[in-house]
Amino acid sequence: MKKTIVIVAAAMALSACASHQNPFLTEWDTPYGIPPFDKIEYADYIPAIKEGIKQQQAEVDAIIANPEPATFENTIAAYELTGELLAKVTGVLYNVSETDNCPELEAIIEEATPLMSEHSSNLGLNKALYERVAAVYNADQSALTEEQKTVLKKMYDDFVQGGIALDEASQARIREIDAEMAAKTNKIGNNILAESNAFKAKFGISVSAYPTAMTTTEDRALREEMFKAYSSRGHNANENDNRKLALEVLRLRLEKAKIMGFSNSADFILQNKMAHDHETVDAFLDGIIKASVAKAKEEIVDMQAIMDEDIKAGLLPEGTKIQPWDWWYYAEKVRKAKYDLDEDITKPYFEAGNVRKGIFEAAHRLYGISFEELADVPSYNKDFVQTFKITDADGSLIGIFTTDYFPRDSKRGGAWMNNIREQKVDAEGNDIRPIIVNVGNFTSPDENGVSLLTVDNVETAFHEFGHALHGLLTKCHYPSVSGTNVARDFVETFSQFNENWAFQPELLSFYAKHYQTGEVIPQELVEKIIAASKFNQGFMTTELCAASILDMKWHELTEIPDDENFVDEFEAKVCAEMGLIDEIIPRYRTTYFNHIFSSGYAAGYYGYLWAEVIDKDAFDYFEQNGTWNVELAKSFRETFLEKGGSVEPMKLYTGWRGQEPDSKPFLKGRGLL
Ligand SMILES: [Zn+2]
Repeated sequence: MKKTIVIVAAAMALSACASHQNPFLTEWDTPYGIPPFDKIEYADYIPAIKEGIKQQQAEVDAIIANPEPATFENTIAAYELTGELLAKVTGVLYNVSETDNCPELEAIIEEATPLMSEHSSNLGLNKALYERVAAVYNADQSALTEEQKTVLKKMYDDFVQGGIALDEASQARIREIDAEMAAKTNKIGNNILAESNAFKAKFGISVSAYPTAMTTTEDRALREEMFKAYSSRGHNANENDNRKLALEVLRLRLEKAKIMGFSNSADFILQNKMAHDHETVDAFLDGIIKASVAKAKEEIVDMQAIMDEDIKAGLLPEGTKIQPWDWWYYAEKVRKAKYDLDEDITKPYFEAGNVRKGIFEAAHRLYGISFEELADVPSYNKDFVQTFKITDADGSLIGIFTTDYFPRDSKRGGAWMNNIREQKVDAEGNDIRPIIVNVGNFTSPDENGVSLLTVDNVETAFHEFGHALHGLLTKCHYPSVSGTNVARDFVETFSQFNENWAFQPELLSFYAKHYQTGEVIPQELVEKIIAASKFNQGFMTTELCAASILDMKWHELTEIPDDENFVDEFEAKVCAEMGLIDEIIPRYRTTYFNHIFSSGYAAGYYGYLWAEVIDKDAFDYFEQNGTWNVELAKSFRETFLEKGGSVEPMKLYTGWRGQEPDSKPFLKGRGLL
């Protein structure tokens, strides 16, 4: 096995010698401009990034050197057109480093990260560019479109929040902080991956299969061992320990916030979000954690009753109580007893290919768009990836969409949507359509290539496609506000909104067919799925909300001690204060909270719940007016999916809905009211 790798490496080195042209530095004549993945070599990335940085810097220099007074066109619009090469490289690199990571790509990311962060700091602290932007911002804006005004405000705010008004010493410190933070957050992410791989090596299951393993493992001691290993990732006093690193990142964030005139990082981060400040978020989460913990306590009573049966049967010692490692296992027993929903019975109706057909059909019925598989286009992983062309009702191209649904060792856990290319209008006025990827870690196909999805997998697949629709249907002019480039606490609205269609009976009868017999899922099974969707929501909401609160509390600190034991102490204190019960831990503990350390969700994990309140309110509006109401879907598409971040979110929402979002449909939907 090792030999093959050496031969492959030698062959790659050879081809690099033989007049290999860096594909990033050429025009792509591939279908739809899909990156020529098959021609890209590891050695191409860093030179292309360096060249991309040089090009963007030159483009910015040209904007500044323009002798004409600053206008929207010659400054803001011109800036939106810069950095095309860099976007080309990072669109590919950030995708493959998450899906097909390897030591080579890790090394490239490690080398690229400080380059990119230095470059973005340089742009953000470019005074001459800022002065032109400020001149446009302070001039009469009445001739600008709403999108132009938003792009201008965003660019102006970014400058101010980047510290442009600071003295030179503070600016230099900001640059250092950004570079240090980028390197450290990247290290945290790699450590989490290494720890997750260690978990897999020990138990033979990936971390994404952890909930399933905890549900099905009868051996209580083994469950306890798995729980402890899972929940102590990044906390093992080895080379992957994240405690010190996490505190260092938090300290850097706090230092930056203070330089910017804020007393904590949360308020600095939240200033341009829909929620705006930490008090608003704290109050929002407080209402949810109370309702969800109360519900979780009821759920424990149900589980303990079943556990008591096991005690009576002599399977467990007298006095055994539900522990965190029992939750999944006994929840499943309660579910079978109360809801009689067995995933082994539902899974055959959710074959992965059929589910994808269902996802496409829902979008077709609502928005009139069509899908066609593209067999012979470049792909970053031929074994796992399928690519589709999406067209509008009038036949025009919407974009390119790729699915990469199944786990492999090189892929990070979880599911996500990624933009390989963002929608924009280019310098010649061409509408450049996006290339979007959905990545998952769903049930691996068996030896016959059949993958049967869990209900949770199905929801996740619809969720990620909601993000994809947001990225695909966008009709903006400027890339900085197109597609999913919206306030972070607004971005999950459309993914979660799309989940609402997964189990609609009209759609299930189309896609939820038994993979062997073709029989449509029986109505009584559907009813059980819908009833079961409210089950265990006390637990689910509690762990999600607890992680959201933990994230907020870390970023509300005004001082970060330099003692790695503080991580445990602080977590314990926060959990006690929110009223968390011993049987539940936050969905992510600090040392493996990838979202807040390496995925840009710092002081933002609450966004999932925030967005769900909006999504449930929007769906409630559909239910009042007909779930498949195409007129309403059209206005939803035009108002939200096409507009991206070009209009302030609350303005868009109240304009469409006629009122601000109400949290009752959310609490009702989760059975918490
Ligand atoms: Zn999402």
